[in-house]
Amino acid sequence: MVKKHIHIIGGGLAGLSAAVSLSQRSDAQVILYESSPSLGGRARSFYDTHLERTIDNGNHLILSGNDAVFKYLRLIDATNSLIGSGYPLFPFVDLELGKRWDLLLSKGRFPWWLFLAKHRVPDFKFPELFALWKLLKADTQQTVADCLVNGQFARRLLKPFAVSALNTSCDAGSALLLGSVMRQSLMKGGKACIPYFPKEGLSETFVQPATSLIELQGGKIHLKSRLSELHVEDGKIDYFVMNNNKIEVGPQDTVILALSAHVAEQILGAVCPKVKVPNQFESILNLHYAVDPNLRIKGSVDKAKFVGVIGGISEWIFVKPGVISITVSAANRFIGCQSENLAELIWQEVKEVLSPVVETPLPEEIPNYRLLWEKRASFVATVEQNHRRPSCYTPYYNLFLAGDWVATGLPATIEGAIRSGFSAADAVFASKPD
Ligand SMILES: Cc1cc2nc3c(=O)[nH]c(=O)nc-3n(C[C@H](O)[C@H](O)[C@H](O)COP(=O)(O)OP(=O)(O)OC[C@H]3O[C@@H](n4cnc5c(N)ncnc54)[C@H](O)[C@@H]3O)c2cc1C
Repeated sequence: MVKKHIHIIGGGLAGLSAAVSLSQRSDAQVILYESSPSLGGRARSFYDTHLERTIDNGNHLILSGNDAVFKYLRLIDATNSLIGSGYPLFPFVDLELGKRWDLLLSKGRFPWWLFLAKHRVPDFKFPELFALWKLLKADTQQTVADCLVNGQFARRLLKPFAVSALNTSCDAGSALLLGSVMRQSLMKGGKACIPYFPKEGLSETFVQPATSLIELQGGKIHLKSRLSELHVEDGKIDYFVMNNNKIEVGPQDTVILALSAHVAEQILGAVCPKVKVPNQFESILNLHYAVDPNLRIKGSVDKAKFVGVIGGISEWIFVKPGVISITVSAANRFIGCQSENLAELIWQEVKEVLSPVVETPLPEEIPNYRLLWEKRASFVATVEQNHRRPSCYTPYYNLFLAGDWVATGLPATIEGAIRSGFSAADAVFASKPD
């Protein structure tokens, strides 16, 4: 059988999921290209020689309702590489108002947790729930802030949830996108909100098993391969330039562009200038502190392995073997702050948050740390940027798009990236030349 060559350019989770999906077909030859020396893109782990620990470029949380993520993990046989409490459990600390609680959602669709003082957001009032309805009914122009109702339900749940899911402030974030996330999670009940993260690291969960499967099924992977140009002839891509070499695209062959948005915009600008791509970005700050690998934690934080923080700089504190990692989303607001000052301030918060739950005190002095600031962690999930997201189809029958910035209906998340990769893979075989 003559195989259709599928050139997938970009080895983040969008490119990997397209490759995993297509490599299963006997009529497709997958060739994956990635410019950097390793796969994974914005979701990768590596050994940090300064910390002498394996760390993720950024803490990634996924929820049990992320259907595309779990489909991908089942395909690559990596579901068991995740850990989590197994419950829709979210321990929180309010540093400003000095309060601690465990948000524990009821597993079914009916929100019994709202009626149980020990499981719900403390001090919230029932009329505040109107915000949920407004978010679910939001139109394309509304921001999250337009839908919120002032009170502790917004401050202690909806705002942190929105900022983490959209990586954008509530004042600017699209209510429509947050509504989509809520439909996939909160509205399905606690069984869709069980948090998970990789046991060892992002690459061990999302990348290495996928690489093995793609290669086992005959796919080829080329690292350090940078695309610089697509070339169009007779209404189709006839070749592209990779590390200054021309790669011919045969009449039956296809290209899937799974690049980061800012690179895709440059490449597409030359061949399909009418295709718009998100072009404003938000950063995420991650601080990894090396701590005693035998550090023992108690109670719900030990079960969940993370805690949400309200009223501080930190938003989520993850406790992993030998590493305490902090995530700060929508972090452009901290650009200009000295890294050393941020690391010192955040360590003070970590001690305040974790002191009551650690069995041995955390060091007074700031431990060795690594600050990772992903400057283009995601496109800004504003109304305006959401309108710039293209579909996976292009004016050329043999060129498709994938990436968390493609119009998936979701913000830039692992779920969105993988969904876009699967959709591009499906589109390749659904589409025929005119
Ligand atoms: C710090 C951080 C924390 C996050 N936390 C979460 C979270 O908790 N939950 C969640 O769901 N999501 C989270 N995300 C978002 C998630 O990581 C991304 O949505 C997802 O990884 C995007 O995958 P992608 O394949 O679309 O893009 P990318 O990962 O950007 O992949 C694009 C790939 O293309 C390659 N490339 C670029 N230019 C070229 C070229 N010219 N030629 C060849 N290859 C090229 C890049 O090197 C890259 O590997 C987080 C992101 C960051 C940065």
